[in-house]
Amino acid sequence: MAEKGGVIVSYNDQNIFAKILRGEIPCDKVYEDNWALAFYDISPQAPIHILVIPKGRYVSMEDFSEKASDPEIVGYFRAVGIVARQTGAVSDGYRLLANHGKNAHQEVPHFHTHIFAGRDLGGMIRRPEMDKIGN
Ligand code: 5GP
Repeated sequence: MAEKGGVIVSYNDQNIFAKILRGEIPCDKVYEDNWALAFYDISPQAPIHILVIPKGRYVSMEDFSEKASDPEIVGYFRAVGIVARQTGAVSDGYRLLANHGKNAHQEVPHFHTHIFAGRDLGGMIRRPEMDKIGN
């Protein structure tokens, strides 16, 4: 996998989400259309934790926002909204999260948006002072 400064720069068809898209690995599907596939995260961090992935081959938000066509981008983000509504995530609020590269601890190099909901999700992100006291 080609990497530059902790950021993956070329798409690898063997990543786990590519395998899910090809049906080689099962997923607990929530929604699918021409642009996106949504499924439950295998290791949920909230009562509702869904991953929404584009059908195209994009490593991260950086790659997607630069190279995807307008219909792909529109279709994908409409799908994120549909999934949030269909799963009830909208009722008490939800958080979207998309990791890109090393500092964000991106694990799977196929662009995805996490939808978290179903509990109070706390503040925005981990604060530097929390790291100092080893939390
Ligand atoms: P990232 O850190 O790349 O933003 O998040 C990747 C997410 O993918 C993690 O939350 C992880 O639990 C999830 N994940 C990894 N492998 C699988 C899998 O095989 N199936 C599903 N449903 N989720 C996965």
